[in-house]
Amino acid sequence: MSLDIFLDDQELISRIQKLKKERNAVILAHSYERPEIQDIADYVGDSLELSRLAAKTDADVIVFCSVHFMAETAKILSPQKTVLLPAAEAGCPLADMITPTQLAIKKAEHPNAAVVAYVNCSAEIKAMADVCCTSANAVQVVDAMPQDEILFVPDQHLGRWVQTQTDKKIILWAGCCPTHQRMKVKDILDLKQQYPDAEVIVHPESNKDICDLANAILSTSQMLRYCQASESKTFVICTEMGMLHRLRTAMPDKTFLQPSKGLICPNMKMTQLEDVYESLKELQHPIEIPEPIRIKALQALNGMLAAVPLK
Ligand code: SF4
Repeated sequence: MSLDIFLDDQELISRIQKLKKERNAVILAHSYERPEIQDIADYVGDSLELSRLAAKTDADVIVFCSVHFMAETAKILSPQKTVLLPAAEAGCPLADMITPTQLAIKKAEHPNAAVVAYVNCSAEIKAMADVCCTSANAVQVVDAMPQDEILFVPDQHLGRWVQTQTDKKIILWAGCCPTHQRMKVKDILDLKQQYPDAEVIVHPESNKDICDLANAILSTSQMLRYCQASESKTFVICTEMGMLHRLRTAMPDKTFLQPSKGLICPNMKMTQLEDVYESLKELQHPIEIPEPIRIKALQALNGMLAAVPLK
């Protein structure tokens, strides 16, 4: 660890900005990142939004402040660019709940099913899928598949929610996001009692009993647009707490509440200003994907974009 890591935040931010110019880099941050990371980012968004932005920019270096599978997705779409994950150990427990061997066994059990992979999975799993989806377009992607049976991986809650919206038979994988599992019905009901006019906005990675309380079930990018368009002034936001910073920054005149204390994804909070600085200074930690896997994973991502073009 270098000594200049003990710089104060202002000095770190100014060095980050200087290095960013020198490297022709762009900084992307997921909506669940720490507030100070969101504030220094060029763009804040959800994983696919950011990966597509990364593919479009003229930057040579993409500093992707998030978790491993998201930086990987950017690399799949932009192989010629240097994609850096500032906190090398930032993974995703949901993405780790499926391995290529496990998926191969399940695919053999359901030879007629199309594999639809939520983007929250590794490049290897994407490469084995027929198509990818996000939480924003999962229903449309599933409906666009010619098969009647869908093996939906790895998030069981998103898959269960998709099942309520489609006639296709969804075969669920037993994965889940540990952060979204922590929400409690009682905490939401307590807030609703205190703020009866508040709308309850729920991410589809949440349990069914939480989804049952929702005014709207939305991805993080949809949440932003929904709250901007809504006439409501108060919202109970049922997802990782970083999203509140994004919503409050975009809509300072509205009130955003979180139902359960400590709804934090520890992996999303690993990236600190020091990591971004070191990442730009030393070009660490670059994402590498074997080309045969990248090409197949790209086909699954492109299949999604062909089925449901992103706006
Ligand atoms: Fe993974 Fe859940 Fe964290 Fe997202 S919030 S990175 S799905 S563990």
